[in-house]
Amino acid sequence: MADEIVRVVVVGAGMAGVQTAVSLRQQGYEGSLVLLGAEPHPPYDRPPLSKDVLLGRAEHSRFEIDFEELGIELALGRRALSLDADARTVKTDGGDLSYDRLVLATGAAPVSLPGQPESAFLLRTQDDALALREALRPGTRVVVVGAGWIGAEAATVARRLGCDVTVVEAASSPLAGALPAELGERTRPWYAQAGAELLTASAVSGIDEHAVRLTNGRELAADAVVVGIGARPDNAWLAGSGIPLDDRGAVAADARLRAGRADVHAVGDCASFPSARYGRRLAVHHWDNAVQGARVVAANVLGGEVVYDPVPYFWSEQFGHMVQVAGVIDASAEQVARGGDAVLWVRGDRLEAVLTVDRPRDLAQGRKLIDSGARVDVAKAADPTVALKAAIA
Ligand SMILES: Cc1cc2nc3c(=O)[nH]c(=O)nc-3n(C[C@H](O)[C@H](O)[C@H](O)COP(=O)(O)OP(=O)(O)OC[C@H]3O[C@@H](n4cnc5c(N)ncnc54)[C@H](O)[C@@H]3O)c2cc1C
Repeated sequence: MADEIVRVVVVGAGMAGVQTAVSLRQQGYEGSLVLLGAEPHPPYDRPPLSKDVLLGRAEHSRFEIDFEELGIELALGRRALSLDADARTVKTDGGDLSYDRLVLATGAAPVSLPGQPESAFLLRTQDDALALREALRPGTRVVVVGAGWIGAEAATVARRLGCDVTVVEAASSPLAGALPAELGERTRPWYAQAGAELLTASAVSGIDEHAVRLTNGRELAADAVVVGIGARPDNAWLAGSGIPLDDRGAVAADARLRAGRADVHAVGDCASFPSARYGRRLAVHHWDNAVQGARVVAANVLGGEVVYDPVPYFWSEQFGHMVQVAGVIDASAEQVARGGDAVLWVRGDRLEAVLTVDRPRDLAQGRKLIDSGARVDVAKAADPTVALKAAIA
């Protein structure tokens, strides 16, 4: 696009939006730069919310960035309400904002249970974390709904703070949305060891002020209920804008993270993108995707043609263990155990994904192997006494 870029507006001041704005400056953009964020707080990082912030070890997880110095205009406590893409105007609750380039980075919003009372806690924002922290007193009866990443981390902290914890999961194993059942199953003992009760294959039929009811008739007394059952892209404000959404409501970006138009890009939890590496569209709700994607968006906003096709990565800290995954786990790939604490997914002689528990070196080396597309010797890769990086065929 040849037209001059005088103003870039980034909607969403989470990791993806912040990193996009910072990268734009790092990559030499000198024009006007507005970062719009619905939350009133200075921009902050989310992963610590279910770890150190919830535990009380940190008061906040604010980014240590001098926005003023970088010439990034923060428009906080201000929400984008709709988009007129032809007029290049974002309508917000604080008036209209015009742009030459727009970046969509509105993240995801947590899913609630139908009829969930106000008193139940979600864990997405700083306010959520601080409110929940207040409730996590020794002896408090806490019911966590959902044994996914957030539920497991919340349960970990609640136990550390001396709460009486029950985790309720509708699926038959923990982490069912992310891992094959037999691997999720391996985390089950962690709950018992931490003194938390885990009830799987247990669907919730209702929550009230002091109890969680299950469809099997059981009632769990609860002083605090935490609902961690997933998050959906926060894109309702784009209705009628012509920006393409995929069937899960994510902005359907192209391989350069353009959102259906040359002057609009999308990044982070709110977007999906086609991956040539994995042969399908990916929506990655993890921190690393927000960071890496933002750098690509900044380059492409400034006229670049950078293709975004990462090896997705995330970590979770639960029950004293570091769980890490690089790549995309696909049941059609061959699953290969590498000792007791690492699992590889291999197609032919290429590594597609790696899952590790407390083996960060395996993770880092596996991630590099996936990224490079190197041929691996599967027998060597399966041998935990051989460094994974040495398992090249
Ligand atoms: C508690 C918690 C723990 C996590 N832990 C891990 C972890 O251990 N490892 C890992 O890999 N990932 C983790 N994640 C995921 C990771 O934090 C997210 O993938 C990352 O925050 C995504 O960044 P984002 O900028 O795309 O979205 P978000 O962080 O959701 O930021 C989007 C921002 O946009 C704002 N917004 C939304 N709509 C509008 C609008 N219309 N107008 C203006 N602003 C708007 C929102 O208020 C929000 O502040 C965790 C997430 C949570 C919630």
